Amino acid sequence: MRDCDFEEMGLGSYISFLRKEACEKKMPFKGVLELTPRCNFSCNMCYVHLKPEEIPAIGRELTTEEWLETGRQLQRAGVLELTLTGGEPFARPDFRQIYESFHDMGFMIQIFSNGSLIREDTMEWLSRRPPAAMRFTLYGACNETYEKVCGVRDGFARVERSVELVQAAGIPLYLAATVTRENERDLGKIYQFAAKRRLPAVHTASLLNPVRGASADPKSHQVERQLPPPEALRRLREQSKGRFPRKPCTDFLSVCRNYRSGFWITWNGMLQLCAFLTEPAVPVTPGEDRFMECWECLLAELEKLRQPAECASCRYEQYCERCPGVLYAENGSCSRISESFCAEAEFNYLLYGSPIEE
Ligand code: SF4
Ligand code: SF4
Repeated sequence: MRDCDFEEMGLGSYISFLRKEACEKKMPFKGVLELTPRCNFSCNMCYVHLKPEEIPAIGRELTTEEWLETGRQLQRAGVLELTLTGGEPFARPDFRQIYESFHDMGFMIQIFSNGSLIREDTMEWLSRRPPAAMRFTLYGACNETYEKVCGVRDGFARVERSVELVQAAGIPLYLAATVTRENERDLGKIYQFAAKRRLPAVHTASLLNPVRGASADPKSHQVERQLPPPEALRRLREQSKGRFPRKPCTDFLSVCRNYRSGFWITWNGMLQLCAFLTEPAVPVTPGEDRFMECWECLLAELEKLRQPAECASCRYEQYCERCPGVLYAENGSCSRISESFCAEAEFNYLLYGSPIEE
């Protein structure tokens, strides 16, 4: 790594510097550990959730000791940032043990959760070793919507209480909403909920196909997109300056920085480039100190990824949100296109690039 003056830069800039360096040098720097496919919710669009009785047919969850050994390997490999997710990470009975050990290993940790299993004693415990940040995913703005989307009665009330507890503990929190047909009407209220508490919030309406054996049918819950009336379209264009706000991943290697320094380890111990790209995947065998070997293997496979040939001459190319993971989830291959996916890019063109018809 290049020389830099840590004192002069401050911690935030120093970490950004390290991130950039790791990306340039293709060093593993940030990982997502999907601790479990279990969850106390049963969301109808979930790409990963499995019931406990479904798990054995698909794989075996890493044990506590296996996760800890994996953590030690990541530590030796120089990884700094970890995201702990699931399923619902707090649904693992040994979550506290895993988290404490990772924290003591010096990782900067963020926790992704549905926010429903956090009680007073959880926060008391977590405040002793606070994470760098927490993210709660919201599925509605009232209990009724939670029942429709997640199959639980008092989901929103529980999340609302958890938000209070996390904020009272001073732990940085942000919200992410998953929008489906069943909760799209709540989106405005979700943003109001966030604004009232001065919490950053984002949302996505893009639902990808399940992976690793989950049996949900996300596409049947996907919101149907409709072009807004001309006046609203004009305002949108003014805000976006006529440009599609999300950058397409035109070159799999140079654009998606995640793939050069980030990785995902699934609940059954497979090292992948992201949640959806289940090929290439290399088993991380805890107990054998071969994480760097697995990482090199993954990078070699990354070099072989090619985008679909059709994309090179496609008129909607600049409006397309393709990336290897998304294409893989759509088609089971990142070098193949699908009609429904390309229709999304055409819609983005109509939204951001086409002449506005009165
Ligand atoms: S979407 Fe999140 S909260 Fe819902 S079942 Fe899946 S992991 Fe659980
Ligand atoms: S719309 Fe389809 S063909 Fe065009 S760039 Fe996107 S994936 Fe490729």
